[in-house]
Amino acid sequence: MRIVLLGAPGAGKGTLAKDLVGLFNVPHISTGDMFREAVASGSELGKQVQHILSSGALVPDEIVNKLVRERISRPDCKDGFILDGYPRTVQQASALDEMLKETGQKLDAVLYLRVSEDVVVKRLTNRRVCPKCGRIYNLLSMPPKNDELCDDCGIRLVQRDDDKEEVVRNRFKVYNEMTAPLIDYYKKKGTLVEVDAEADHQNTVQKAVEALKKVIA
Ligand code: ADP
Ligand code: ZN
Repeated sequence: MRIVLLGAPGAGKGTLAKDLVGLFNVPHISTGDMFREAVASGSELGKQVQHILSSGALVPDEIVNKLVRERISRPDCKDGFILDGYPRTVQQASALDEMLKETGQKLDAVLYLRVSEDVVVKRLTNRRVCPKCGRIYNLLSMPPKNDELCDDCGIRLVQRDDDKEEVVRNRFKVYNEMTAPLIDYYKKKGTLVEVDAEADHQNTVQKAVEALKKVIA
């Protein structure tokens, strides 16, 4: 099962990906997580992308393409993957086509999570993550049981730098300019599956799974 998750920042790609992993048994590949890990570890790559991430701009295509090419060629991806946050530009989408063609593979579906900007800005500015286990919460729709502490680890949740309102607005601008054209790109290829992601998360998961089951059937 080779799936791409497409959608505005805050559409719920990361949370949905974690649910799909449990159902389809393929790895979740989040380029955003990979870059954040690189920054946290202080690696060469991390130093290169640190400023780009905190501004909400995009990492250059060549860097991302190289990272993904290496990642999807690992043995754990032989039966598929869930790509979250990649591709994000038309150039990346054609690079991915190339990579898959080389190994005789193809995408089963591009799941497009449709949400409006207002809903998303509200969601993102209320998003908190556990710095230890990575679990994602939302102070409005998916709050932790106690205060702002992780249910699993008991430590204080944090807000990502790029979830601050000003940066969120900029990420949206970048999304509209650079990533939204991919909706048409995949529509033309016939791989696009649209899911309304405005309702609560369980609802979105259910709709996404139904849509994917139709595709594989
Ligand atoms: P979001 O929550 O907006 O979907 P991600 O966690 O996917 O954000 O990514 C965080 C940041 O990492 C992006 O704002 C961007 O700077 C960088 N990034 C992640 N994936 C890509 C990509 N495919 N191309 C370019 N930059 C990327
Ligand atoms: Zn935790």
